[in-house]
Formats: sequence, C-alpha cells, structure tokens
Amino acid sequence: MAERMTSVSSPHVAVIPFMAKGHTIPILHLVRLLVSRGVAVTIFTTHGNSPYIRQSLTGTEASVIDLSFPQNVHPELQQGIESTDKFPSMSLFIPFVTATKLMQPEFDRVLESLYPRVSCIISDGFFPWTLQSATKLGIPRLVFYGSVSHGPNSDDEPFALPDFPWIKLTRNDFESAFTEPDIDGPHFQFMMEVFAATRNSNGIIVNSFCELEPKFLEYCNREKTPKAWCVGPLCLTEPPKAAVEPFQKPASTLEWLDEMLAKGRSVLYVAFGSQADISTQQLQEIANGLEKSRTNFLWVVRSSMCDEILDKEFQERMRCTGLVVTEWVDQVEILNHPSVNGFMSHCGWNSVMESICASVPILAWPMMAEQHLNARMVVEELGIGIRVLAENGSVRGFVTSECIEKQVRELMEGENAKEMKKKVKQLSEEARRAMEEGGSSWFTLEQLINEFICGK
Ligand code: UDP
Ligand code: UDP
Repeated sequence: MAERMTSVSSPHVAVIPFMAKGHTIPILHLVRLLVSRGVAVTIFTTHGNSPYIRQSLTGTEASVIDLSFPQNVHPELQQGIESTDKFPSMSLFIPFVTATKLMQPEFDRVLESLYPRVSCIISDGFFPWTLQSATKLGIPRLVFYGSVSHGPNSDDEPFALPDFPWIKLTRNDFESAFTEPDIDGPHFQFMMEVFAATRNSNGIIVNSFCELEPKFLEYCNREKTPKAWCVGPLCLTEPPKAAVEPFQKPASTLEWLDEMLAKGRSVLYVAFGSQADISTQQLQEIANGLEKSRTNFLWVVRSSMCDEILDKEFQERMRCTGLVVTEWVDQVEILNHPSVNGFMSHCGWNSVMESICASVPILAWPMMAEQHLNARMVVEELGIGIRVLAENGSVRGFVTSECIEKQVRELMEGENAKEMKKKVKQLSEEARRAMEEGGSSWFTLEQLINEFICGK
C-alpha cells in the first residue's frame, strides 16, 4: 500500500528512445507532454545521443541517463556510430540493433536504483529486450510506435488484411524483409522479435489521432492486443524555441521563403527524411525534373548524397527558382511557411504527420520500411496527395525527370490540387482539435497516465 501511495503521488516513467531522428523526435514531444501533466520522466540514451536529447529538452524537467553504447561488436560499427543517422549504409541496421541488446544489464541496474520507483517503461519497439526488464521489475511496458498503419501480426501471415477489402496491397508495399528471398533473413527475424515483444506488452503508443484512421484503429483494438493509444500528432507539441536543434539553422532558408511569398510564388518542399539512400543517378534525375517543372522548390539533401551531383552550375541556373540546402533544417517551420504548398516526401510517418498539420498536400515517394503503406494511406485513403510513379506505372524503380516534372506540376497546379488542399486543411483542423485539452489525443493520454503510470 505504501508503495502504491508513493507511485500515485510521484508518478515516474522510464523512456528509452531508439537512436534515429525519426524515432527520437516524436518520443521527446511525448516526454514534454508527460512532464507537463505532472509525470516525472527519466530518459535513457547513450553518450553519443545525449547532447541532442538534453538540448531538445532544455527547460523541461526530465532526467537523462547516458548508457554506454557497446563497442567493438561489429567491425563496421565504428566508434561514434550511435545513431542510425550516422550509418554509411542501412546494412548496419542489424549489427546496430544487436549491439543495443548489450545495453540491457546497465539499463536494468539503473532502472532498479531509480527513486521514486519507476511505474512503467515506455520503450521504442526496436528494443524488444526492454520487455524482459519490465517483466523483471513487474511493471508494464508500453511500446512507442511511429504509426498505427503497421501493427504486430501473427508470424505466418504478417500483413494479411482480410477485414479491409478496400485496401489493395501488393508485395511492393512491403519491405523486402517480408518477401522472399529475405523471409528468413536477420531483418525478418528481428522484426518478428519486435512484434512478439510488442504483443506481450501492455499497450502501444501511437503518434497519430483516432479521427485520422478510425476504421483501422477500431479494427486493431477489436482484433488485437495490446491496445493502441493514439496520442498525436506529437509534432503539435511546441518545443521551447531556444531548444529546437543543436545544428545551425540557416536563416537564409526562411528569408528565401519570405522572398518567394512576397513574389506570390508557391514553393514545393522536397525532403526524404534522415535515412533514405538515393542513388546518384536518381538524385540527378530529381534535379532535372525539378528544373523542367519550373516550380519553385526548396530541396533539403543530406550533404553526403549531393556533393558531386548538385553542381555549382545547377545551383547557379536555379538561383531564382530553387534553393538546395544541405544543413539540418526545421522541417516543421518550413512546412508551416505560407509559401509552401506541396511536399515531395518519402512518407516517413513524422513527415506525413507534419505535412498534415501544416495543411500541405504530399507528392508521395516512399523509399523503404513502412513508407509504402504510409504513401497508400496518404493517396488512397486520405486523398491528400499523389504518388510518384515510374514510367511503367510502378511504385518502385527508377523515375525519370519527365515523370517527376509531370507529377510535380500535377501536385502544385493539377485539377485535384484544390480538392487535396481542402481535405488536408480539414485534417489539420481535426488534428489540432485532437491535441487540445479535452480532444481525443489529449484524453487518451490522460487515460494512459491513469492506467499505467499512476496505477489508478
Ligand atoms: N527533420 C528535420 N530536419 C531535417 C531532416 C529531418 O527537422 O533536415 C525531421 C522531420 O521533421 C521529421 C524527422 O526529422 O520529424 C524525420 O522523420 P520521418 O519519420 O519523416 O523520416 P525518417 O527520417 O525516420 O525516415
Ligand atoms: N517499427 C516497429 N516499431 C517501431 C517503429 C517501427 O516495429 O517502434 C517497424 C515498422 O513496422 C517498419 C520498420 O520498423 O516496418 C521500420 O520503421 P521506421 O520506418 O519507423 O524505421 P526507420 O527505417 O525510419 O528507422
């Protein structure tokens, strides 16, 4: 009883974000929300990721604990690679997640020593081993998921959707790990481990809002356990301005957008997230397509990808039309700039949420992971975007500059442009309402805190 009193008066949760920007950013928004509702939060990360997390949480009363990232586990996993954003190639993913398992003893030791005692672990799905930690302590484990569109399924038929006849999935919608010849490969094995741990956990925290995908959510919560709790879109949680990014924000980007606005121009924002590997040839083709489309664009490219391609001449020719940025930008700020009216996006879940919240239609160009499913939702379910297609109509494969030109024009000025804009605006308003006090996501978080963190 005394224990319960303690946990009721000082609710305390441990949060362990996966080391990838796309996973860390939304979970830190969740941390801010929890703290603002009176929950004490201890975040577990590694020395390499800690500066980013500490800076993002400036002014927030959350504790950060730095664990040691296991060294010398794999020859290519050199010192300093403690985040997937630093991968030279995604082939390091399995060695990386395998290495994180070695963090468990230290995690468990610190977890047990925390006071007030932790009443719940919120873990990224990519750490299946935190289920053991939670079980040992006899506390619930909640799994943080980017999106709801891909829940855990049974081992044999990972993605059959018999209840959704209107969703026509093809093999191209799935990561190669789920189709031959990789079916027994390490990526598939890892995902099965992730799904099994999720199934045996107490809940799934989803960065979405129930008005966005009511049918899917209802299905998940009818057919599957554990329950999915939609508490987003988390990008609507304002971070303290001073704390946004440790990276220098190029002021010129916003100035350029202001200039475009003053000239009455409409800008296409082009960005493929923090992970996508795009071939040199394809990047070149994107550059040519953008040039041919004569659309104003702001293109954020990872510097490692663009050096030789986007040469000075291209940038010189584009001077009045487009801007290429290789630094980290504040994507949310850009999407919310009134000149931005389209987003060519890889459909990472955060990007989709951020685009919806900013009322910006999407030119969907998914690259990997569950992005193909997200793209289908954007285009077919929500009607707020169009799909990038190769010449032969396929959703995968090389896309020529002619196709890019055509699709960019269609998004920005095609006959459906107004309709897409109207729909996305409606969704953004619903998203805002969901996050406001008394809204669906606000209320769901309240229930979640009561059920798992305060132990009511
Ligand atoms: N992002 C950003 N600036 C950049 C690149 C990315 O703010 O220069 C943010 C973006 O707003 C989003 C996250 O990084 O919140 C990327 O997540 P997403 O799910 O879209 O894609 P991923 O990087 O995981 O593939
Ligand atoms: N995934 C998961 N748990 C999570 C996040 C993602 O099981 O907490 C799965 C998701 O189903 C997808 C894959 O991991 O198939 C890759 O997800 P995501 O795109 O978020 O990862 P990224 O490649 O951006 O690091």
